[in-house]
Amino acid sequence: METKTCSKCRITKPLSEFQSDSTKRDGHHNMCKACKNAIRRDYARTKEGMLKTIYKDQHYSSKKRGHQPPKYTLQEFIAWALPQKELDILYKQWVESGYYHRLRPTFDRADDSKGYSFGNFNKWMTRYDNGLKGVRDHANDPKAHPIKPVIGVNLKTHIQMWFPSLTLAAKTLHINKGNLWLALNNSNRTAGGFKWEYANKKELVAQ
Ligand SMILES: [Zn+2]
Repeated sequence: METKTCSKCRITKPLSEFQSDSTKRDGHHNMCKACKNAIRRDYARTKEGMLKTIYKDQHYSSKKRGHQPPKYTLQEFIAWALPQKELDILYKQWVESGYYHRLRPTFDRADDSKGYSFGNFNKWMTRYDNGLKGVRDHANDPKAHPIKPVIGVNLKTHIQMWFPSLTLAAKTLHINKGNLWLALNNSNRTAGGFKWEYANKKELVAQ
């Protein structure tokens, strides 16, 4: 079996673990696929990387809706968006959520019948609040969500339920994950008839 040592992680892997690249002597990239993916993912999680994803999604959505694509360039979009405080607040919330795909900020248009332009900007909104189904769905990326156990307290019965993760709690009780996340991170909110908190913050009281 032909192998190659990755220039980044220094692990020797089969050639199939390296993308082909005709400019290289052995026809493959020097960095393995896993390292390339990690770099791509890390960039997508920076504020600039996130704006690039939003920009790409705007082009994709405009085409799908039959609208003109945005007239601004990626650089113009980033320069316009970066100083905005509201975007910063939503960006930090997205980071805190473990890059939960439904909490990624989006550009909400004032007039939905028109395409993306700075003149048609209403406000920054999470994808969840904007009602967007995943254009790019990161839900299947296991690294996207650090798994933390959660506890729900039933508002009526006061019975506590422990779950190994937000995802399992949401699935079991048929609660929207975004709502559950918001309740976990805001003591004034409830979700699915439960008050929520991360299990590490408080010991489970014996029933
Ligand atoms: Zn590597």
